[in-house]
Amino acid sequence: MGSLDTIIQELVVANRILAHEDVVDAYGHISVRSPDNPRHFFIARSLAPELVERDDIVELGLDGQPVREESRALYLERFIHAAIYEARPEVQAVVHAHAEEILPFGIARATPLRPVIHSGSFIGAKVPVWDIADKFGDTNLLVTNMEQGRDLAKCLAGNNVALMRGHGFASAAPSLIEVVRLSVYLPRNARALLRAKQLGGEITYLRQGEIDARNRGYSPYSPETWRAWEYWATKAGCGHMLNQPEHAHAKKKAPK
Ligand code: MN
Repeated sequence: MGSLDTIIQELVVANRILAHEDVVDAYGHISVRSPDNPRHFFIARSLAPELVERDDIVELGLDGQPVREESRALYLERFIHAAIYEARPEVQAVVHAHAEEILPFGIARATPLRPVIHSGSFIGAKVPVWDIADKFGDTNLLVTNMEQGRDLAKCLAGNNVALMRGHGFASAAPSLIEVVRLSVYLPRNARALLRAKQLGGEITYLRQGEIDARNRGYSPYSPETWRAWEYWATKAGCGHMLNQPEHAHAKKKAPK
């Protein structure tokens, strides 16, 4: 994997998937680091993810500014992405969204958002909560410059997800497929935890060993992960835009 063309195509698909899975709505965005230049990343111009096409993808630097002349409006919160790529060299893809199910956990801190279901293990054992007011006082809650982005990235540290108090979340992963998968299952894990709380009694979170077992020996293009990507993309109406991975071809060539 990795040609520029393929990556941009996958980014368009990822936008549509996140929209169809209700992770994003009119707001929220996903980006991917450039395979050609680790100091650049790709993200849509200011547009609802559902509507993103190839021509809407722009290339930004780690300062959050476009690398070419750009007259179209950009996402105000692109600095979330820039700062996370700056802080985390291994991260290849970032999502920021406001999925409703996760919001209570950034507001009521007594119950931490941690994995409680097996697909929730992708969010990682710890999900820190970032409060923009801690350092910046009264703002409009948006991350609109590098200083704020860096503060968020610092709170995220080496984790996969950080909640943003009263606002949403930021997630980071080593590939587009992984960041989409973790961002789809994050609200579902939050919903299961909320409902379990309503039933009352003590919450049984996934054990550290269970989280580790689920994340071990994992390849983003394994048949299991591809199955989800293919399903979500098809459901979002862009199955025709997929590039089949090696194992899918191999299966067709060797019917035995
Ligand atoms: Mn936001």
